[in-house]
Amino acid sequence: MKSSKECMDLGDKYFLHTYNRFPIVLDHGEGVYLYDAEGKRYLDFAAGIAVFALGYGNRDFDNALKAQIDKLIHTSNLYYNAPAAQAAEVLCKKTGMDRVFFTNSGTEAIEGSIKSALKYAYSKKAASDYEIIAMESSFHGRSMGALSVTGNSHYREPFGPGIGHIRFAKFNDLMSVKELINDKTCAIIMETVQGEGGIHPASEEFLKGVRSICDENDILLILDEIQCGMGRTGHLFAYEAFGIRPDILAVAKALGCGVPVGAFLMTERVAEKSLVPGDHGTTYGGNPLATAAVNEVFREFDERDIVGHVWQLAPYLEEKLDKIAQDLPIVSERRGMGFMQALELKSDAKDIIPALHREGLLVITAGARVLRLVPPLIIEKEHIDEATETLTKILQNY
Ligand SMILES: *Cc1c(COP(=O)(O)O)cnc(C)c1O
Repeated sequence: MKSSKECMDLGDKYFLHTYNRFPIVLDHGEGVYLYDAEGKRYLDFAAGIAVFALGYGNRDFDNALKAQIDKLIHTSNLYYNAPAAQAAEVLCKKTGMDRVFFTNSGTEAIEGSIKSALKYAYSKKAASDYEIIAMESSFHGRSMGALSVTGNSHYREPFGPGIGHIRFAKFNDLMSVKELINDKTCAIIMETVQGEGGIHPASEEFLKGVRSICDENDILLILDEIQCGMGRTGHLFAYEAFGIRPDILAVAKALGCGVPVGAFLMTERVAEKSLVPGDHGTTYGGNPLATAAVNEVFREFDERDIVGHVWQLAPYLEEKLDKIAQDLPIVSERRGMGFMQALELKSDAKDIIPALHREGLLVITAGARVLRLVPPLIIEKEHIDEATETLTKILQNY
């Protein structure tokens, strides 16, 4: 086995330099703890960017994957396979949607969502200048389509005009959406809780208002629940908290708990006028290994009442974080929903993250001044205590 230093040197020599990685080589995990190659233990409040909801070293999950590996990993979408059909049913029933397309990532779920909306509009009147309204400070992925609806010009600028016909409104500002609506508007895309943009939940007034605008104008509401879905907010999907439903839904991250899988879903009303054979495809998407993971994730979510657990324990996390926000001058605000929480700082989080790492706590950022807390959904009170004690210890020095 290579030492941490050897791994880092090798990676630095050969990886394309698109990430400023932290000098940590993670080797294995158990529950909500990760261990580096030298055995140092970290409490994981990052969950591989809101992915690993069910914790590490989960025997049931591992065994479900191993059983599928021994049986069949891949078939292509030219044939049916049982895990995919089962996962399709479960996901439609859980989301209240009617039809699903499995992808390999969140970004691809967004690409499919955009194409579905454009095709729906095109079916009504063949035209290719339909507009999509997206939100400022949103994040939807790095491919050209997903990047084009990402409201961060810093990410977009080097890559040209993108797919075009995208207009940006201000998140949680209904007037700014209304001002952009015209005959060409075919869809509004947003995260129910903005993730990378700094953990900003939609206000009820805004989300319901956008839903009404969409209903009145036959505009499709695309919700990106790639990060905030799958129980993270204390609801299986965050839109449930607002009593609305999207027309098109993108999910990924915790959907496969580490096995790369995403999905976009739509109502039958949209599907009837949207993608048909020949319009879209993927070689790997929804393969038996990925969808076996989805099935096991939902089985465990039900068996262990993961969503109920988040719902019950989130107020405790919020209370602890509110106290930090109140007591420590560096923290200006706590915000979030469920186990998707942020501490907004008055200065850059850059030095703070390594200090937390030294104390054995993995936390990520969401923008320069925001500490993002997205732990595995199975954390218990004692882990919240440990994390908030470490946060207090470090943040009180600033
Ligand atoms: C992570 C993320 C994406 C992109 O998903 P990938 O799996 O990284 O392609 C899109 N939207 C949101 C809200 C995300 O958090």
